Amino acid sequence: MPRFFIQAKPEAGMLSIEGEDACHIARVLRMKPGDSVTLCDSAGMDYGCVVEEASPELVRCRVLEETVSAGEPDTEVTLYMALPKADKFEFIVQKAVELGVSRVVPFLSARCVSRPDEKSLRRKAGRWRKIAEEAAKQCGRGRVPEVADAVPFREAVAQASQAKTALFFYECERETPLRGAIGGRRLTTVSLMVGPEGGFALEEAGQAQAGGLTSVSLGKRILRCETAPLAALAVVMYESGNL
Ligand code: SAH
Repeated sequence: MPRFFIQAKPEAGMLSIEGEDACHIARVLRMKPGDSVTLCDSAGMDYGCVVEEASPELVRCRVLEETVSAGEPDTEVTLYMALPKADKFEFIVQKAVELGVSRVVPFLSARCVSRPDEKSLRRKAGRWRKIAEEAAKQCGRGRVPEVADAVPFREAVAQASQAKTALFFYECERETPLRGAIGGRRLTTVSLMVGPEGGFALEEAGQAQAGGLTSVSLGKRILRCETAPLAALAVVMYESGNL
């Protein structure tokens, strides 16, 4: 069933859709009165609706049932991802949303090859947010995960350390496997911090540990910077019963 995000609660059992989505429903999907659609309030509630009126400017729907969105995980995971080259970040955002990430925060670290200027970052951020929204719609999330503005490495460490479980994925880590760090723990809020193509500098690993993050390994193979966050996220979702 088609699914759309709205920013409103029902009024007298009705919900309205305007703008791009209305146009999509009326023109592209050619939905007519009597057709079914699911509207999600972006805050974790789904409304099963029937279309009563459909024009490209305005679609009005009657709410038939109200349910908690089944697509939202009960573990809140924020991915702190060093900005990679080219369009890899788009791929990461899309897949992380599918896997259940709550928030993605890009950061710049010592070995980031990609260093876009302010203007280009702003343009990219708009695109990343659109990708997050599309992915959330497609996979049945109950809200659209936030893609934050890019922050410097230190700020990313400071934010990441606020989570109950804060993990720093370090390719040179030999002592602590991911399993050892999270196995058997209740995972409520989790931060995952992953480096760029060139990896983390030794000083950065020191700063992350001093900042309260646990340095962990994803095994003996070096994963690409787009593989590592997705593998980590899948493991956390599995371990917390959300996969
Ligand atoms: N160029 C580096 C690898 C960078 S991989 C090298 O050859 O050593 C990019 C990022 O993915 C790393 O900074 C880390 O955050 C994560 N990563 C990849 N493989 C990992 C592993 N085996 N254990 C922990 N983190 C890993």
